[in-house]
Amino acid sequence: MSLSLRILAVLPQTQCTRCGYPDCEAYANAIESQEAGINQCPPGGEEGIQRLSDLTGLPVVPLNPENGLQGPRHIAWIDEQWCIGCTLCISACPTDAILGASKQMHTVIEDACTGCELCLPVCPVDCIHLENVTLGNSGWNAWTQDQADHAKKRYERKKLRLSKEQGETHADKNIVGLKQSAVQAALERAKAQK
Ligand code: SF4
Ligand code: SF4
Ligand code: SF4
Repeated sequence: MSLSLRILAVLPQTQCTRCGYPDCEAYANAIESQEAGINQCPPGGEEGIQRLSDLTGLPVVPLNPENGLQGPRHIAWIDEQWCIGCTLCISACPTDAILGASKQMHTVIEDACTGCELCLPVCPVDCIHLENVTLGNSGWNAWTQDQADHAKKRYERKKLRLSKEQGETHADKNIVGLKQSAVQAALERAKAQK
C-alpha cells in the first residue's frame, strides 16, 4: 500500500476540509509530498498527530490552531418546521447524510453524519443546528475507527454517484447534440433539393 493510502487510513474521514484541503485524501497526498505538516487536522487532534508521526517518522508537533481546535464531535439536526426544502444541504453533505427532496422538509441520518458542519453555512434559513454527542470526549476519543471507515465508504459512494451523474449528463448532451446535427443536416438537404 502506498504511503498516501496508509496516511489516509489513519485520518478521521469526516471530510470537513478544516485542514485546508478538499477532503482527507487530498490532505494525505499533501502530507506524502511534504506540502503539508502532520498537525493540520482538528478532528484527529493530538492522537491523530501521534498516528501520523508513527507512520511518517516526523516529529510530534502541536495542532495548528489556525484550522480549529480539537473538540467534541457534533451531529447536525434540522429544525424541520423552518426547512424550505431548497436541497442545498444535500449537495454540501460529503456523506449523503441528509434525506429530502426539493420543496420537502429534510432530515439528518444520525449515524451517517460526521459533524463536518459543511451543511450549516449553505442553509438560507439557518435551520440546521449541532448537537454535542460526545459529552467530555474529543478527537479520536469521540470518534471510532468503525465510524471513520463508515464515513469513508459513504463519501466514496457519493463521489461515485456524482461522477456517474456527470457522465450521464455528458452523454445526454452528446445525444441532444447528435439529434440537432441530424435535424440541421436534414434541413440543409431539404433546402438543397428545392
Ligand atoms: S478530517 Fe482531518 S484530514 Fe479529513 S478533511 Fe477534516 S481536517 Fe482534513
Ligand atoms: S449532515 Fe451536515 S454536519 Fe452531518 S455530515 Fe452532512 S454536512 Fe456534515
Ligand atoms: S439547506 Fe436548510 S432550508 Fe435548505 S433543505 Fe437543507 S435544511 Fe432545509
